Amino acid sequence: MNKTRIAVLGATGRMGRAVIQALSETRQPVVLGAAFERSGHALIGQDAAVQAGLPPSGVLIADDLAARAADFDVVIDFTRPEGTLAALAVCRAHGKGMVIGTTGFTPEQKQQLADAAQQIPLCIAANFSVGVNVCLNLLEQAARVLAADSDIEIVEAHHKHKVDAPSGTALAMGEAVARGAGIDLATHAIYARQGHTGAREAGKIGFATVRGGDVVGDHTVMFLGEGERVEITHKASSRQNFARGAVRAAGWLGGKAAGTYSMREVLGL
Ligand code: NAD
Repeated sequence: MNKTRIAVLGATGRMGRAVIQALSETRQPVVLGAAFERSGHALIGQDAAVQAGLPPSGVLIADDLAARAADFDVVIDFTRPEGTLAALAVCRAHGKGMVIGTTGFTPEQKQQLADAAQQIPLCIAANFSVGVNVCLNLLEQAARVLAADSDIEIVEAHHKHKVDAPSGTALAMGEAVARGAGIDLATHAIYARQGHTGAREAGKIGFATVRGGDVVGDHTVMFLGEGERVEITHKASSRQNFARGAVRAAGWLGGKAAGTYSMREVLGL
């Protein structure tokens, strides 16, 4: 069976390197086919595997996705929204699937992803960890029963280099809770509180963000009721779990029809 050839975008970033390591260890039918960095990056031309702390692979880091389109079948993208959208245009033109882990898209950018999914398969997840995706299921279920009588707050912590807030995972948890509660997150989310805020309004979903040190990613959703509280927590201790999940998604996506797929579908949850 032919292996699905993977192009890693942001190949020297924290997640890019973790994905290249995961590709070297996986039993999925996938292989590193190409690696990219943004134009002008100091490591263009270097061996991608060596940059990830592995023996040489012969795959050199390049900056022109379109020129190398013959070298890969599916892209794994952990970059920034501008990087994702530039790659999206190339993948659309060349009929390649994309696994998108980048977070921080605006509603307009999300619409561009949805438009592209009419032509190519996209697997988009704010969090590729298996544990988080199990939590999303639990949260929807918990909210269905608890939302009417409890206040819901989501607290997340990440390392000091993270540039968007709240995290994509916290937002995905907010969406799961809102689905369970039968409400719209956009009209019920509270992203910041300061000064004289007044008493807490019922039915809102609050978010709080902590940034610092090397925290890989902690998320807790609290259902705060009268006389009891339920907390559902996920703690990531290494980036490898996200990378392994993204590699699993890339293996699953190869050969799929156009559309937007979630990690829940990849995992059969
Ligand atoms: P990072 O800063 O370490 O790496 C980002 C990489 O993208 C770098 O190599 C950088 O050169 C490259 N890049 C930046 N702008 C670019 C552009 N315009 N075009 C092409 N390449 C570009 O960041 P990171 O910690 O690896 O995280 C990357 C993204 O992945 C963030 O959005 C983060 O929130 C997200 N993330 C998602 C998951 C998940 O499971 N979905 C897990 C971890 C991180």
